[in-house]
Amino acid sequence: MKGKRILVTGGAGFIGSHLTGELLKLGHQVTVIDNLSSGRLDNVEQFKDDPAFRFVKHDVSEPYCEDFEWIFNLACPASPDAYQTDPIQTTKTSMLGAFNLLGLAKRCGARFLQASTSEVYGDPKVHPQVESYWGNVNPVGIRSCYDEGKRVAETLCNDYRRQNHVDTKIIRIFNTYGPRMRVNDGRVVSNFIVQALQGKDITVYGEGTQTRSFCYVSDLVRGILAMMEKDGFSGPVNLGNPGEFTIKELADIVIDMTGSKSKIIKLPLPSDDPMVRRPDITLAKAKLGWEPTIPLREGLKFTIDYFEKELTKGQIK
Ligand code: UDP
Repeated sequence: MKGKRILVTGGAGFIGSHLTGELLKLGHQVTVIDNLSSGRLDNVEQFKDDPAFRFVKHDVSEPYCEDFEWIFNLACPASPDAYQTDPIQTTKTSMLGAFNLLGLAKRCGARFLQASTSEVYGDPKVHPQVESYWGNVNPVGIRSCYDEGKRVAETLCNDYRRQNHVDTKIIRIFNTYGPRMRVNDGRVVSNFIVQALQGKDITVYGEGTQTRSFCYVSDLVRGILAMMEKDGFSGPVNLGNPGEFTIKELADIVIDMTGSKSKIIKLPLPSDDPMVRRPDITLAKAKLGWEPTIPLREGLKFTIDYFEKELTKGQIK
């Protein structure tokens, strides 16, 4: 057996399954654990005959015991629709998941990477967001289960590092898109593409003047690996594409690229929806030599192709 013994939690999810694929290509032995709440076995189906791959259905809010050299903790529903469906479980997943897995990392001396989020900045008052900004987060709103859960996970990482000398790393992932998003995921890129392909109304929440920065999944996975491989740098580090678009601009681009006849309709803006979001990636460039290379229209092309196939298969899950 060659390569490292690696655990990817949430490895049947959108980002986790792409990361798993890259790790297997690099010759590592990868165990994926996932409770399949928002992950799908379909995402890891292609690895099932690889002897270096193993899937274990398990919920990270419960302890897990096995020896690993690297642990990537990606387990948590990440779309607002998904994480607000069972908000108590969302907090448990982030908080108890980090607690259990950091304990495991401590026991087996593993390097530990926590997938955190741009949501730790809340509705930011500093723009673009730099890692040194502490954020503007509502602790009692409908997004808090995710935002505060991830903030506690970050706290636990640094306390396990300071108190127990665990080799921890924190990445803050900004909006990411690409193949293997679920058709009914609820996030803006998947919603708009599916609506456009089905000729349904494009649902812009609020006036569509709020901004987001969209990173293609392969760029993100490259950043995750660069962070895990880097010695002596615990982060937190922003990983995202600094190109910034209003939601209305995204709707227009998707309509243009799909040639759809869909109309844009406006629905109420959900509470605490951040008005701006763009990563400052100076730190990622300096420490990891990382920056995204795939512009929005190119990434959207791959993503539209994927959703066309998904809709043809009728795999609406
Ligand atoms: N959004 C929208 N229509 C949709 C889904 C989302 O206008 O059908 C908006 C949402 O209000 C937010 C932005 O798109 O301002 C990004 O939402 P998403 O759920 O993708 O992720 P977020 O960045 O809010 O976590």
